[in-house]
Amino acid sequence: MNSFAKKVIATVLTAAMAFSFAACSTKSEGMTIEEGKLIMATNAFFPPYEYYEGETITGIDAEIAQAVADKLGLELVIEDVSFDSIIAGVQSGKYDIGCAGMTVTESRLQSVNFTSTYATGIQSVIVAEGSEITDVDTLLAGDYIVGVQSGTTGDIYMSSSVEDGGVGEDRVDRYARGNDAVVALMSGKVDAVVIDNEPAKAFVAANEGLTILDTAYAEEDYAMAINKDNQELLDAVNGALAELEADGTLDAIITKYIPAES
Ligand code: GLN
Repeated sequence: MNSFAKKVIATVLTAAMAFSFAACSTKSEGMTIEEGKLIMATNAFFPPYEYYEGETITGIDAEIAQAVADKLGLELVIEDVSFDSIIAGVQSGKYDIGCAGMTVTESRLQSVNFTSTYATGIQSVIVAEGSEITDVDTLLAGDYIVGVQSGTTGDIYMSSSVEDGGVGEDRVDRYARGNDAVVALMSGKVDAVVIDNEPAKAFVAANEGLTILDTAYAEEDYAMAINKDNQELLDAVNGALAELEADGTLDAIITKYIPAES
């Protein structure tokens, strides 16, 4: 090989290396399960965070995750699964992120990492209009059956013992979707539903004869769940969230779905 050819090869190699380094730093090869994709698990029956509009899943979480994916140069893929399978799926490497109006809790932190908080929620109590349950204390003290969405914080709080502020397992009826619990409330199968405040408002607005108690049950922070071994993705998503917070995108998305109360 003459020296010119060697030089050409060397130059090509250097260029290729520089190119692959550049590709690495922008695309972060191997950061997600499938190259170029961000696979998000959610349960799309939780308006206004995630719900179907025709065939498409939309809502606050869908839009925030889309904005994060755009920042990271990834294609967002949303999978609609049962809420109580999201953490396990993130943990086992089935999904890159769990984004489902998910509350950060100590026990979930044993299984997954959470990104920075992008929204807050409150546990609300829905009852039938005219119900004798007029506040949380009445609900806890009476012999009432409470409907919850399986595996949610509403379920966890309510299923705990009376001493711990719940009503105990025996008085809790679990449903796969929040909406199923609301249907049970309307047919009188349960006396109250404990669920996050924004879905509670959406369910009450969509169904006659329901009301939300004034007294809230618990305040919570929402964040995205990420596999504990994927620090790179956690840092990348947190970086994207910080930028989206700073430029007002997060606020704009949230107020689009939850207009400020006047
Ligand atoms: N915020 C609640 C939780 O994390 C409910 C979330 C949901 O039902 N999507 O448990």
